[in-house]
Amino acid sequence: MESTGTIGRTITRTIFNMSDWSNVRADFPVLHQQVNGKPLVYLDNAATAQKPRRVIDALVRYYEQDNSNVHRGLHALSMRATDGYEGARARVAKFINAADPAEIIFTRGTTESINIVARSWSQAHLKPGDVVLTTEMEHHSNLVPWQQAAKASGATLKYVPVLGDNAEGGLDLAALDTLLTPAVKLFAFTHVSNTLGTVNSVDELCRRARAVGAITVIDAAQSIGHMPLDVRALGCDFLAFSGHKMCGPTGIGVLYGRRELLDKLAPDETGGGMVVQVNYEGATWKPAPERFEAGTPNVADAIALAAACDYLDALGREKIAAHDAELAALAYEKLRALPGIRLLGPTGARSGLVSFAFADVHAHDVVTFADEDGIALRGGHHCNQPLMRKLGLASTTRASFYVYNTPDEIDRLAASLQRILKFFGGA
Ligand code: PLP
Repeated sequence: MESTGTIGRTITRTIFNMSDWSNVRADFPVLHQQVNGKPLVYLDNAATAQKPRRVIDALVRYYEQDNSNVHRGLHALSMRATDGYEGARARVAKFINAADPAEIIFTRGTTESINIVARSWSQAHLKPGDVVLTTEMEHHSNLVPWQQAAKASGATLKYVPVLGDNAEGGLDLAALDTLLTPAVKLFAFTHVSNTLGTVNSVDELCRRARAVGAITVIDAAQSIGHMPLDVRALGCDFLAFSGHKMCGPTGIGVLYGRRELLDKLAPDETGGGMVVQVNYEGATWKPAPERFEAGTPNVADAIALAAACDYLDALGREKIAAHDAELAALAYEKLRALPGIRLLGPTGARSGLVSFAFADVHAHDVVTFADEDGIALRGGHHCNQPLMRKLGLASTTRASFYVYNTPDEIDRLAASLQRILKFFGGA
């Protein structure tokens, strides 16, 4: 289906005039395959992004040439592995403009990063009467850990509401006036919603939290690989993200924490590598980051994550953000014309995803039919069950875009959705 909207036509032209994105596709081996006899259209990037050759090569090179355990080895391979691992830490620090590589803790991903704060920080700081504030649009990873922390400490968990029947109004910032009181000890919020495509004003949220003395935790899972991010400019206290959503490997993620906070936190996990001295009576902890990295770390994936940082910075994160947002706007425009569609999230500027529901076709049917057309989508509650319930939905279908997606692929998505609607008698 062709878009008849002026916005759609303008957007298509802008994308074609941007830097040469067709070269980008050549960097991703996995894209060059057929699925069900059709060229693959990968639109499940919010779940996980594909990996460029540079990242895959970094992994292979490490295992072929340098593989060894880090930190305590005095032989050549161990020193190379240590240099690679600590170099990766410095590279990630630079990627988010952290003041000090020691503020970068390698974890398994966003989920583990948030859990570390929810356990370590909350245990030491929360008590009955305190409030933990989060929002109604959080992924379960930035919601369940706070429920657990509140239960364990006796603190109360409160939510900033989302506005509108389709959450098109984003967060109710006016509600912050009453919610953000000095009783709030910690405010945890997502930068970009994985279900709505809302981009929150994280700088404002950090500023307002600081004004009442609350600690801030930003879930950057959906923003880290898609837009510039500067922790010092934001002034956030903690920030969490996953490597696999930013062209890096699975199994590696980051918890950024301000040094002065990290050094005061007790470790969540204990064991080798994080201790200064151990005797039969007890142990003392190294400073951050080692304090939070008990056991053998994920050296190979950290090194490949640094390669992903290089890759994204070479493309330019401003350009990536514009590209993703333009594709999302184009998709929004085309899908809007489909009969019976309900589109979630902002009607204007959004991140690189669209999430939608049809009255009579289940999201799982949409995803299964689209797969027949070689298109990878995601259907379900997207780990946003409370938000779905609030919006009166069991599930949505989500198409999410990244650097290698093209306007032609949006045309294929729209055509596939039309075929699905026709099959189910909706068009
Ligand atoms: N937060 C958001 C907004 C997400 O979209 C996701 C994953 O989809 C997560 C947290 C959890 O990330 P991970 O599963 O990599 O820990």
